[in-house]
Amino acid sequence: MTCAELLQLLDDYLTGQLFYEQQQVVELHVSTCEHCRTQLISYRYTLLAVRQLPKQLPLPPQLAQRLWHVMQAEYQRLYGPDNTHQGSGG
Ligand SMILES: [Zn+2]
Repeated sequence: MTCAELLQLLDDYLTGQLFYEQQQVVELHVSTCEHCRTQLISYRYTLLAVRQLPKQLPLPPQLAQRLWHVMQAEYQRLYGPDNTHQGSGG
């Protein structure tokens, strides 16, 4: 299993939706791969945090992510992608 494959299984692993054999593979990989172990821990904390939030969230994560991209685009539109040039006057 590659790290990319493991990351795709992390969500199902943490929500207990994997078959026993798949769980074993994930745990074996995580026990030998520090990178994925870090991912697993941070992912688990994220899941726990999300579950502890109230149901009436102001924004679903996907929408928040889209908004973030919109904000980035808007920022670049206003200030330009290259911000190093200091204009003299206007
Ligand atoms: Zn890995």
